Amino acid sequence: MKIFPIVILFFMLMNCQEGENYYSLDDYSKVKKIDSHVHLVTDRRDFMEKAGKDNFQIVNVSLETKNGWDEVHRKYTYGQLQQEMFPNKVATITSFSVEDWEDENWQNNVIQWLDSCFQEGVVGVKVWKNIGMVAKDGAGKMFMIDDAKFDPIFKFIKDQGKTLLGHLGEPKNCWLPLEEMTTNNDKKYFKKHPEYHMYQFPDLPSYEDQISARDRMLEKNPDLRFVGAHMGSLEWSVDELAKTLDRFPNMAVGLAARMGQIFYQTAENREKVRDFFMAYQDRILYATDLGDGGKGSQEDLYSGMDENWRRDWQYFTTDDDMESDLIDSPFQGLKLPASVVDKIFYHNAIHWFGIEK
Ligand SMILES: [Zn+2]
Repeated sequence: MKIFPIVILFFMLMNCQEGENYYSLDDYSKVKKIDSHVHLVTDRRDFMEKAGKDNFQIVNVSLETKNGWDEVHRKYTYGQLQQEMFPNKVATITSFSVEDWEDENWQNNVIQWLDSCFQEGVVGVKVWKNIGMVAKDGAGKMFMIDDAKFDPIFKFIKDQGKTLLGHLGEPKNCWLPLEEMTTNNDKKYFKKHPEYHMYQFPDLPSYEDQISARDRMLEKNPDLRFVGAHMGSLEWSVDELAKTLDRFPNMAVGLAARMGQIFYQTAENREKVRDFFMAYQDRILYATDLGDGGKGSQEDLYSGMDENWRRDWQYFTTDDDMESDLIDSPFQGLKLPASVVDKIFYHNAIHWFGIEK
């Protein structure tokens, strides 16, 4: 008779431990997800058709690289087209140009353009690394994101209840020689784009300059909802990222194109990375930087989508031993509770970009 309470206690403890639910690989297409950083610059439907089957909605991100307003308008137009073709599945982030920075009407022009985008349901605005790495003022001086000329624009974005998405600076690897970079994706990217490989340009702003300009901008705009793309360029250390998130409560980060750095840190110290995802489960948005520029075969497009989306699902939901060509070491999946996966893969994007469900 005495054994019964112990047995009951044992099962109670078991239940406590198993109070968390976990997803499996099979749940991949059953669970609603959002990829919060995608670039669709095409009228073809292929990407969104597969996304629908895989239960992904997307946030489609427009940006200015170096072709000014023409590029901004062109990318935005494709974004609107995708949103019309797939209502409630595509949310749009617009951007603005700094090519006419010296024009005395620049601020008004930007605000008018953003206003017209917001009236069409756009959820946010992206600023890109050209600010701080490429664009120069009339005197030939590079300007940074904390420049006072941006103040009224960021205030307008905040007043309209929209979100600023910032790809500012680059991964820390960008300031290292190729052979010292931690991830294969960075080695590949900076080999292909030497113009952005800052190690080769010691006279341009440093990694620390980029981060402190971003932080000064956030200090000036505490009420602006800010999503730091690419892990807020603090992809190399979850400890450093945690400090920044503590300092700026209105900041979240997206994971786009930085899974390599997450895997790298996981290979070194999985518990630390898992603790970070648990502690900041409300501040992290799943994202890839996948896209479709309308070129290439559907087969290649779909294999790239599967490679990223299914790999990341496995990493976050299971504790499988994994390998990825992004890094050279094996690592183990985080197996986050389903409730946390739901936030990172869905609810956080809804919240931080104010997406209507
Ligand atoms: Zn991107």
